[in-house]
Amino acid sequence: MMKILGYCTWHVMTMIFVCGIAQPVCVAAELQRYTYQEIAMSIPVRIIVCAESDSKAQFAAEAAFRRMHELDAIMTDYDSDSELMQMCRLAGKTGELVAVSDDLYRVLQKSKQFSTDSQGAFDITVGPIVRLWRRARRLHEFPEQRLLDDARAVVGNDLWEIDMRTQTVTIKKDRVLFDLGGIAKGDIIDQAVAVLKNHGITAALVDAGGDIRVYGIPGDNDANGWLIGVSSHGKEVGRVVSDEIAMASSGDLSRYVMLDGVRYSHIVDPKTGIGLTNQTAVTVFALDATTADALATALSVLPPEEGLKLFTKYEGTAAMICRQSPQGTQNTQYETEVWHSENWGQLVTAVELLE
Ligand code: AMP
Ligand code: MG
Repeated sequence: MMKILGYCTWHVMTMIFVCGIAQPVCVAAELQRYTYQEIAMSIPVRIIVCAESDSKAQFAAEAAFRRMHELDAIMTDYDSDSELMQMCRLAGKTGELVAVSDDLYRVLQKSKQFSTDSQGAFDITVGPIVRLWRRARRLHEFPEQRLLDDARAVVGNDLWEIDMRTQTVTIKKDRVLFDLGGIAKGDIIDQAVAVLKNHGITAALVDAGGDIRVYGIPGDNDANGWLIGVSSHGKEVGRVVSDEIAMASSGDLSRYVMLDGVRYSHIVDPKTGIGLTNQTAVTVFALDATTADALATALSVLPPEEGLKLFTKYEGTAAMICRQSPQGTQNTQYETEVWHSENWGQLVTAVELLE
């Protein structure tokens, strides 16, 4: 694990750019690259498809977007009629087994695993706390302690169970509210990739607000895959070339509330109920977007050394954590600490080495 001390302007940290290698033409001479953009999950989503024809590319991209909308409708906590919200209400009230769809089961089962592995740093039962912090952002007011205590009473990985055999969920307390915001985007990207592959697309990129997954060979002058640039401190720090990789970033760069000079993130510590104030920007690479997404959220919460231990368990993962020193304030120069997982250097080629 490497730890570097440096200076940076915080709000441009870990800006990520992604591009296909050099040429606009895909690997086989007849393949062209087609780009599509739509709003899904309330954010702009870009799909780049390499295909022989416009019609094949468009057909596949449309199917991928449809799948994304379908999954978002199941998993959103912004719609009280989504399957997720209905299930929480029913299971919480009755305490009985509630059957869930294959899609919801897949994500809940993985959420359980990530929560267990991260010792509760990643926890989808944070719903009631997240809602209090959303309100705090709107009103610019610290959540009432009484409400925070109430919310914390219904947060915990041990308050729910999932049964593989019957594909059912049980919730042990009423008012438990799941929030899949830390993992759903990754799953939706992975499912979109599965749709593209099923349509015979041999190379593509799915980019949902900076969380991405790529596969295949996009350029005809490089046989190794897509080029992903990683920048930090506003400048490029590394490059990854891969034909099968996902990347996610987390942190409080865009969604936070400033209260009495302290920045509280939209990511909360499930143990304290407080929005993170550690001003962390995390970048995670993994073989699939679900793993990258969940680990990036978990890593934002955990102390860096502890969080990076998680990475030995998941094959093909690597992480970079940038954490601002506590005395920093917004829009000033900060002292920032940077940590890398041990294998970061094996996956990401430092830009200095390319020159
Ligand atoms: P991400 O941007 O992937 O890190 O996800 C952040 C979102 O995940 C938040 O907006 C919440 O909806 C949800 N969330 C917040 N804190 C946690 C946590 N400790 N574990 C799991 N999900 C969380
Ligand atoms: Mg996440």
